[in-house]
This record gives sequence, structure tokens and C-alpha cells, in this order.
Amino acid sequence: MASSLTKDSSSTPGEKTFLGHPRGMATLFMTEMWERFSWYGMRGILVLYLVAGVLDGPLQGREALAASIYGVYNAVVYMAAMPGGWIADRLWGARKAVLIGGIVIALGHYTLAVPSDTAFFAGLVLIAAGTGLLKPNISAMVGGLYEGQSSARRDAGFTLFYMAINIGGMAAPLVVGYLGENVNWHLGFAVAGIGMTLAVVQYVLGSRHLGDVGKEPGTPATPEEKRTALRKVLLWGGLAVAALAADVLLGTYDIEHIVNFLAVLGIVVPVVYFVAMYRNPALTATDKPKIQAFAWFFATAVLFWMIYDQSGSLLTLFADGKTDRMIGGWEFPASWYQSVNPAMVIVLAPLFAALWVRLAKRNREPSTPMKFALAMLLIGGSFAIMGLAGAAAANSETGKVTVFWLLSVYLVQTLGEMCLSPVGLSLSTKLAPKQFVGQIMGLWFLATATGNALNGWTTKLNEPLGDAAYYSMWAVVAIVAGLTFMMAGRKIRALMGDVR
Ligand code: GLN
Repeated sequence: MASSLTKDSSSTPGEKTFLGHPRGMATLFMTEMWERFSWYGMRGILVLYLVAGVLDGPLQGREALAASIYGVYNAVVYMAAMPGGWIADRLWGARKAVLIGGIVIALGHYTLAVPSDTAFFAGLVLIAAGTGLLKPNISAMVGGLYEGQSSARRDAGFTLFYMAINIGGMAAPLVVGYLGENVNWHLGFAVAGIGMTLAVVQYVLGSRHLGDVGKEPGTPATPEEKRTALRKVLLWGGLAVAALAADVLLGTYDIEHIVNFLAVLGIVVPVVYFVAMYRNPALTATDKPKIQAFAWFFATAVLFWMIYDQSGSLLTLFADGKTDRMIGGWEFPASWYQSVNPAMVIVLAPLFAALWVRLAKRNREPSTPMKFALAMLLIGGSFAIMGLAGAAAANSETGKVTVFWLLSVYLVQTLGEMCLSPVGLSLSTKLAPKQFVGQIMGLWFLATATGNALNGWTTKLNEPLGDAAYYSMWAVVAIVAGLTFMMAGRKIRALMGDVR
């Protein structure tokens, strides 16, 4: 990552720029900012709304189920990035995929604004499909704006883009969370939809600044390939619908079946993908070790996101029930905690970018495996603090602890995120053999999907184990994984070949 977000000597004098970056970056920046605003806004109140307004039964059961629905839903959304990337590469081009994705997401939020259970689940499906189309392809378009330019400038562009993500992510819970929790859930969802609509309008108006980026599909599918893809979608989709119909008709249907099915899918899809890629005859002997190295990074990222993304489920429930949220006689909404991490990212991302550059100049920048190991130690550390917070809440007379517990948890998590998330994005493009760049990028997002699919299951252990034991258990797992990664660092670096 480069040290400066603002100035770049390689821009042509007189050419209009956005903070020193190509003008098209402003368009993509605003689109991603609003997309993340709508996504994180909706996500911030999802669990609370499920518990309060959708699910039935005793509170503990509702909370556990809401946490697993949340984990699985995150998994579905990130899994949708793979077909989304395919549609852009082979059918539409990224430009159109992002546009359609944005429209579908906005429709999804408006559907959630309708107070009905059916509308609620239909809205979630639309948002997942739209995000799958938008998220991977807008990231690819950012890369496209820097085609032929220095890698440092591209890195700086991605840092700026990461800031857009987090500005949207920070504002969303404040606005959507406040409206959803304090006024009306559906108004909260509607505001998320308005944000996305604004994004689509400015994307259309600003698209003239994007040049040819994403206009055409990279390798258009032949009619035969389109037919095969359609056949596969119909076959697998049909099988899934038939299984669901049979379940309902037999009277055995339970929402847990969908949760379990998707969790299994989250594990099976990456395994099948890695094996297929490894066996692909187009892969050269020098590329094969790189895929093996990527599998290590992938597995670590799965564990990282599995722990990290519990902030929207168990940690939000902890914020809701077990923290003292009073400021001068007013209780702030639990969903506001979701703004803490993005706010920290906005401050820390440029600092980390500068730190890596400074260390690199002295030849002391940690290697990528070392950064991943650090990320695991930090995420483990954050859950160790959560374990203590849980114990403190259990021993407190009111059952509540101060906000500083969660604030420290989020600070340590964010330090970990800085060592893994932007690093992983650029690593994926570096390790990917030319013909697999899109697929490796999709796999990077799939790590988040699998992590969330797994936490759809693991969060169920929270209730029987209790906070202190539950969080400490994951702290130990993450710290052991971090130490293992550190010890395996030399071996992984050897697999990476010329990639640092
Ligand atoms: N917070 C980042 C985003 O929303 C990273 C998400 C991820 O890759 N899991 O894009």
C-alpha cells in the first residue's frame, strides 16, 4: 500500500482527478460507499429485528437462531460473488453487472420496508443476488482504472476504495440503526434503499468518467457455454427447490434445514473449487505451489472472518443485553457499535499503508505470512478480551459492563483486519495465475462466505458454554492458528515462489 492517498506525480497536468486519482474513481468510490451504507445498515439491525419481529419462541432460542440465520446469510451474500464475477467476465461486462446489481439491491431494501414475513425473506434474496453482482465487479473495475500504472499507485487507489467501504459502513448503523431501533424497523430498511438508489443514480451520471473499464466481458461465453451454464443452474436450482418442497410437504420443514444446508455448501464449494483448479491442465508446474500457498491463506482467512463477523451477531446481542449504553441519561442504540470498526479503519488504513511503505524502505516490512499470523493473534486476542468481558458481565450486579470492553475488542480486531483484509486482496491478485485471476478473487470473498457459514453453526455453542468459556475457546483456537502459521511461514514463503 502506498503512503499517500492524495498526491501522485504520474497524473497528467490539467487532467481532472479525484484526490489525485483517476476521475472515474470518484464514481466507484460513491457507488461503493452507498452500497456498503445500505448493506451495513441493514446488517446492523438484522439480528435485532429477527429477534424482535420475525422469530417465535423463548428469547434464548430466538437469539441463537437469529445468530445462525445472520451467519448463513452473510455466507450466501459472499458466495454470490462467484456467479456474480462469472456473469461479468463471460456475459455482461463489469459495468452492466454493477448497474443491475445496484438496482436489485435497492429493490431488495424497499422490499424489506414492507412489513410482512414473506417480503422480508424475498428482500434478503434480492440483496444477496444484487451484492453478488456488484461487490466483486466494482473491485475489479477499481483495478481496471489503474491498468498500466505503477503498482504503488494501484495500492493507493485500493486504500482509497477501502476508505469508501468504511465511510459507508460507519454512517449506516448510526442512521439506519437509529431509525430501525428507535422509530420503525421498516423505515430503517427503506432508508438503506434510498442510499442505494442515490448510488445508482450517481453511477449512471458518472459512468462517462470510466472510459472503457468494464464495458465488455473479458472472455465472452460461447452459445454452447451459455447453454451448459443454464442447464447446470436449472438442474442444481431445481434439485434445491424440489428438496425444499419435499421437506415442506412432508411436514418436516424447519428453518434449521436451510441453515445447515448452506453451512455444508460453504465448506463443499471451496474444496471442490480448489481441487478443480489444481487439476486444471492449464495450470503450469510453477503455478501449482502458488495455489497450495493460497490454500493456506484461504484457510486462515476463513477462521479470521468466522470470528470477526460475529460482531454483527453475538457481539451485537452482547451490546444489546450486557453493556451499559447510557450517556447522560440517554441509551444509545446497540447497533451503533457497528460503527466503531469502520471509524477505526478510516483512521488506521492510511497509517498502516504508510507503515508498510516505511518498513519496506528499510527492508523490514513483515512478509505476507507474517502479517496473516499477526492478524490471527490479534483476532484471538480480541476474543480473549471478550471472554473477560463475559465473565465481568456475569459477575456484575446489573449484569452489564462498561462500553470500554467492546471498544477494546473492536480496536484489537481492527488492527488484525488491517494486517489481513487489504493485504489479502492484493495477495490474491499476485498469487493468481493469469487465467485464474477472477476465480482467485472470487475465492478470496469465498473465505468470508465459508467463515460465516461456519459461524452459523459455532455461534450455537455460545448459549450452552456461556460467554467466558465460548469466547476464550475461540481465542485459544485463533492464537494456536496464528502460531502455527508463523512456524509454517518459511514453508509457505517457499510455495509462493517469487511473490512476497
Ligand atoms: N469490510 C470489508 C468490506 O465490507 C471486508 C469484507 C470482507 O472481505 N469480508 O468490503
